[in-house]
Amino acid sequence: MNTTNKGTVKKLLAVFAHPDDESFICGGTLAKYASEGVDITLVSATRGDMGRRMGNPPYLNRETMAAAREIELRDACKCLGIQQLLFFDIRDKTVEFIDEESLTSRVEALIRDVNPDVVLTFHETLGGHPDHCAIGKATTAACQRTGHLDSLYFITFGDAMERPERFGYSHKDVMKIDVEAHLKAKLAAFRAHRCQTEIDEWVWLPDHEALAKFGRYEYFLKADRESSAKKRDNLF
Ligand SMILES: [Zn+2]
Repeated sequence: MNTTNKGTVKKLLAVFAHPDDESFICGGTLAKYASEGVDITLVSATRGDMGRRMGNPPYLNRETMAAAREIELRDACKCLGIQQLLFFDIRDKTVEFIDEESLTSRVEALIRDVNPDVVLTFHETLGGHPDHCAIGKATTAACQRTGHLDSLYFITFGDAMERPERFGYSHKDVMKIDVEAHLKAKLAAFRAHRCQTEIDEWVWLPDHEALAKFGRYEYFLKADRESSAKKRDNLF
């Protein structure tokens, strides 16, 4: 088990926007820490009910999508070893319109409840989707209020942070996690999000071919850029 100095189980809180963010962006890292005994709580702010992918051939419609995506996310959580799943039940594609204070307060209450050792969320400007940026901004504010900023990391896309200078960061701000041993779990989680991945032919290739499409590393930005104590290859 992955434990703190006090002998208690380490905890990770991931606050994301949509079912699939956890698998597609940082599934290898979540699977890695779950396999080491870290207790993971995932929040999905929405149920992804406005998603444009309906399966291939389409088997969902606007009415059935939210329930289907919840089931698929629960399957993905099993693949990755995520133990707790919560929804904020915000309508998909409207997170940016939620009152900022009320959203921050919800995340703050959750942080105080879980008391995580590591928090993951989106960067408030590099998140790539308005829902991502909005939940990232609220989670960052909540971490500031609760004194968790030094354990907050922003998830990033692909290997973009191999060259962080392009985003105004330097290599010392980047955490690089080796997830090679956990790519099978990541692939299983991709496939669990069936309605989102069925149009991506590569996901359904034979395992060894599909696994070859993944990078070996997942990258995170430190929220607290002043902290230099931590190693770059481990979030804990
Ligand atoms: Zn998303």
